[in-house]
Amino acid sequence: MHGRNNPLPPVIQEITKGSVVQYFEVPAIASAKHKGEEDFPVKHWWIIEPVARAIAVAEHLSPHEERVFTGVRSRTDGSETFAAAERIMSFIAHVNATTGWTGLSEIGAGNVSPHMFRRTMAMLTDQFPGSEIALGIQLKHTAARALANRVTQGYAAPAADWTRFLEQAVEAARFRGLRELFALHREGQPIGFGPGAEQLKDAFDSIRETVAAQGGDTLVEEGMLRRARISIRFGTLNNCLFDEASPAGAACLEKAVIPPGHTGPLVDRCRPERCGNSMIGTQHVPIWESEERGLAALLESPGLPPGRRAALERQRAETQAILRKAVQ
Ligand code: SF4
Repeated sequence: MHGRNNPLPPVIQEITKGSVVQYFEVPAIASAKHKGEEDFPVKHWWIIEPVARAIAVAEHLSPHEERVFTGVRSRTDGSETFAAAERIMSFIAHVNATTGWTGLSEIGAGNVSPHMFRRTMAMLTDQFPGSEIALGIQLKHTAARALANRVTQGYAAPAADWTRFLEQAVEAARFRGLRELFALHREGQPIGFGPGAEQLKDAFDSIRETVAAQGGDTLVEEGMLRRARISIRFGTLNNCLFDEASPAGAACLEKAVIPPGHTGPLVDRCRPERCGNSMIGTQHVPIWESEERGLAALLESPGLPPGRRAALERQRAETQAILRKAVQ
């Protein structure tokens, strides 16, 4: 869900019947009015059509007077009950009983609550390149919004005790990705498209030339690659070569209100179709092709409001601009 006005999304159990509305010609969930809070401003969270349809079905099936989703524990016949804490304990017991063949480490004692899983997943999705790509494949054109959503980013913000682990893990994952691209480039394989890819190729060539001049081998190359500290962020829909030492040309920073203390790109305003730092990796191309097909299908829908049609056409033109770079 995409929060326009409110930093917090609706808890799923708070979605009430009749709360799916059109907001700026896009389906959205409107926050519920609670007794005694009639003056509270209504907030909206944009959703995609399939979610709106799923809520309509759930609304139809829900036995509750107001709510769309209710806990199964509340069923009076006792046929199906679900207690999150019990399921988590049973999951941990299962993981710990099977470490012998799964190779996983044992989960230590301590309190584990459901929201920690949500936070952990969001955090890992945000931080690890492979997870982001998986998310992009699953969510397709929704991924840009999901990742741009400050709510998602908020969940993903690491807790203090995770910071050190994450920083090391992110750095390691990033270097692995960079090393793979370097190896591809050395073999003469394509590493990606667009101006960001050209920047990266130039950096790789310069490393190789320097090492060759010194008579070094691949180990020396790898050491130099590590020391070069090439700035790259592996993303779902593109890679970003933003360099803090030279921020000019970052499309996401144009006319942007930069939050105090923020450094680096504003990824929720990423413009891969025209930014000089954007690199469309070979793994991104199928996602953009799928996006283009999805938008073309959406544009075939009858009775689209003019504003929605114009927005979809703009999105499609941007997608086509990205694909043209890949074809070139
Ligand atoms: S627009 Fe995208 S690619 Fe360009 S600097 Fe910003 S985040 Fe990076």
